[in-house]
Amino acid sequence: MNMTKWLGAVLLSVLLLVTAACANTGTQENTQSEKENVSNETKEKNKAVETGNKSLSNIKVLATGGTIAGSSNSDTDTTGYKSGSLGIDKVIASVPQLKDIANVTGEQVVNVGSENVDNALLLKLAKRVNELLKDDQVDGIVITHGTDTLEETAYFLHLVVKSDKPVVVVGSMRPASAISADGPLNLYHAVKIASTKEAKGKGVMVTLNDRIASARFITKTNTTTTDAFKSLEHGYIGEVAGEVVSFYNEPIRKHTSESEFDVSNIKELPQVDILYGYQNDQKYLYDAAVKAGAKGIVVAAAGNGTMSTEAIKGAADAVKKDVVLVRSSRTGNGIVTHEKTDDEHHFVSSDSLNPQKARILLMLALTKTKDPVKVQRYYEQY
Ligand code: GLU
Repeated sequence: MNMTKWLGAVLLSVLLLVTAACANTGTQENTQSEKENVSNETKEKNKAVETGNKSLSNIKVLATGGTIAGSSNSDTDTTGYKSGSLGIDKVIASVPQLKDIANVTGEQVVNVGSENVDNALLLKLAKRVNELLKDDQVDGIVITHGTDTLEETAYFLHLVVKSDKPVVVVGSMRPASAISADGPLNLYHAVKIASTKEAKGKGVMVTLNDRIASARFITKTNTTTTDAFKSLEHGYIGEVAGEVVSFYNEPIRKHTSESEFDVSNIKELPQVDILYGYQNDQKYLYDAAVKAGAKGIVVAAAGNGTMSTEAIKGAADAVKKDVVLVRSSRTGNGIVTHEKTDDEHHFVSSDSLNPQKARILLMLALTKTKDPVKVQRYYEQY
């Protein structure tokens, strides 16, 4: 190699080294600034979660248990699981997408199967909902609940919540541990509905299986399937399709802000029992309920509220002892019409409320009056 070529080679190597060094420094600088960007982004996100993203609604999730918080060791076990076993933080964490649609915070009110929801819990829940909805920082409430008695809690809240802000009750038919669990999407929908402006003033709503129903009309119609909840005669009030929440109807009977029922100072609800009507039923059922202290009896009677001669005797005796008697229907659908015989016996008919919801309204009616004529009016208005 001659001197010129040697110098040329040395210069080229130096140039390459310098270029590589510069490029390397550039990469390091980029990595550094990327890191800073990422950590700033994380800081921003954390801040948004802490302080709440101002552009999103603040939704409180009140958890009561049920299958939506249920789990099993087997992902194919959709019946033998333990309901109410996961805490609300785990349930919310299982749907990270919630962060994109609302500032969601959870509160565990209780963690039970809904067959164990009692009057004391209904009062506690209603009082907490009313307290939270008075807060300007709360835009809506979602309540997670077992499906077995979900319609009773939802209808109770529909009658005693004193706010137009959205309240959505949600459950699931499959536990969180199951293949194709329906809880996460149902919860996502519930938060989405509660954050929607149009949901205001519609009373308490229930969502499962992509539908939005009024608490007044929804009922559980199947023991295990994911389409168990139906709003049979009166229809749904809306639907969630993809990211879109659409409303088509609203309940016109009185509810929430228009309701005259107020539980803020009530410590205990009156005992109301449901008696089933069937062939060969006996008067002693009524006698036993009255003796045990029932203040009201709802009869899950046959057809259009038809009662046997024996049952009517028991019911008429109960009425003489100041018990309010409401005829509902075990058919699960339709209106129990008010007849002349109701006036003769001082019975009340339940309109289109099924026995379990007729019981909820009767408990609240009894906080106001024992007069069957006035109670009948409530069934016509709510
Ligand atoms: N019996 C339980 C309950 O109502 C499980 C049913 C359910 O949530 O789907 O909480």
